[in-house]
Amino acid sequence: MRILVAGGAGFIPSHLGERLLAVGHEVVAIDNFVTGDRRNLASFAQHPRFRFIEADISRELPVEGRFDRVYHMASPASPIDYVQLPFETLYAGSDGTRRLLERAEADGARFLVASTSEVYGDPQVHPQVESYWGNVNPIGPRSVYDEAKRYGEALTMAFHRYRRVPTRIARIFNTYGPRMRLNDGRVMPAFCSQALRGEPLTVFGDGSQTRSFCYVSDLVEGLFRLMESDLDEPCNVGNPHEMTMLQLAQYINRYTGNSAGIVHRPLPTDDPTQRRPDIGRARERLGWEPKVSFEDGVRETVAYFAARIRDDRA
Ligand code: UDP
Repeated sequence: MRILVAGGAGFIPSHLGERLLAVGHEVVAIDNFVTGDRRNLASFAQHPRFRFIEADISRELPVEGRFDRVYHMASPASPIDYVQLPFETLYAGSDGTRRLLERAEADGARFLVASTSEVYGDPQVHPQVESYWGNVNPIGPRSVYDEAKRYGEALTMAFHRYRRVPTRIARIFNTYGPRMRLNDGRVMPAFCSQALRGEPLTVFGDGSQTRSFCYVSDLVEGLFRLMESDLDEPCNVGNPHEMTMLQLAQYINRYTGNSAGIVHRPLPTDDPTQRRPDIGRARERLGWEPKVSFEDGVRETVAYFAARIRDDRA
């Protein structure tokens, strides 16, 4: 198949593109590098079935030829990005989603949008099941992301209902692994880079808030299965292995042998207090569940960040 991956130089989509090439597809990746990184493409940039286009999907889609599949993975995705790139975040989820849906319709392609656990906001239902509508602040600092993704889901369902476009909605929960940006502000790169530099880990608030982390190869497998399934309702993709941020900090310090301990910093506005996916739908409809243990995932991730820190120093 010929497959478009929007946001293709990002953390998760670069792994997705590589995976699609490995199973024999032709992949066109498009990215404007606002948060993506050319180095994420290095291991497959020269592949004969791969093509890269530098462009902003919220403004244009300068790609010829028909696609069979369109993955919309383009958006800033870290809380510190939303503050620095509020309009880019809103437009990627709104104009970008519209442009890619229109292209999927014109091409007769199947469309998958990367939505998010953030559509549940600070959830009052735990674990989060797809039927939960969420508790989102529509005007808070995270709203540029949360509401853009919610609008993206609404637009996707409208194209599905009224224009018969085959669509898929993946609600992606916290994901980690190689190719995350060292300085993207998210908790995994923050804790790993602090630990590797022998600095104290910055735990926001009292650290009792929870997250559930999925290793990137598992996540990509879930996205791929969802795209190839017949499931047109939203589907959570994530790992239910839940922990507090204090437990995560202690684990990373222990694993890396960092003796600098932790320091507490103020909790960001609207930081969700708990998050864990209910993956019953993915299990049943996609035959999917995460396989990589937290210990193995952390080992790979810390090794990657250690190499990046060495490269940066060189
Ligand atoms: N966090 C933290 N220290 C950091 C960065 C993040 O304690 O240096 C916390 C943050 O407050 C949140 C959790 O870790 O409760 C996950 O944050 P992240 O930005 O990775 O993603 P989120 O799930 O909030 O989108």
